[in-house]
Amino acid sequence: MEELCTVPVNNINVVNCVCIVCSLLKKGFSSRNFEEKTDIINSSRLKDPINLETKVEKSAKKFTRHFQVGFYEKYEWLIGCKTLKKLFCWPCLLFNIAEKTHWNSDGITDLNNFPKSVKGHVNSKSHISARIKEKTFGTYRIEHSLDNHLKISNKLHNERVKKIGTSYND
Ligand SMILES: [Zn+2]
Ligand SMILES: [Zn+2]
Repeated sequence: MEELCTVPVNNINVVNCVCIVCSLLKKGFSSRNFEEKTDIINSSRLKDPINLETKVEKSAKKFTRHFQVGFYEKYEWLIGCKTLKKLFCWPCLLFNIAEKTHWNSDGITDLNNFPKSVKGHVNSKSHISARIKEKTFGTYRIEHSLDNHLKISNKLHNERVKKIGTSYND
């Protein structure tokens, strides 16, 4: 059962939203247990259409930029919440806990400077490191558990050898 979460928006409104982004904004990834973390990592990425637009005035021309679901294909790390009408970076939301940016806390709403903002973000050290952490999350755990498995089987082997040794001495 999903629990309703409450996220303060600009400290004025309170929005109730059950999406994974809002859930993570409320309770960070790092404070989840391993099962929750695995579920989050393995869940398919939210690709909701976001009703987000930015009015632009450029050299006497007025137009509106709209969010397009195609952005999700273009940027495989992009995620958004349709209730908040904001865009976020999925790996940074999960793994970039040291640095709070628009991409992992306030959310992105300005589509006019979007390409520029994306460019700056994808080249940032914290984003690159968050993406590596996301990609290697499962692998790291598997290696870790293989290592544990090896230790346990070595221990069992040693015990067996000891037992055989004892029986030979009898
Ligand atoms: Zn939400
Ligand atoms: Zn990022």
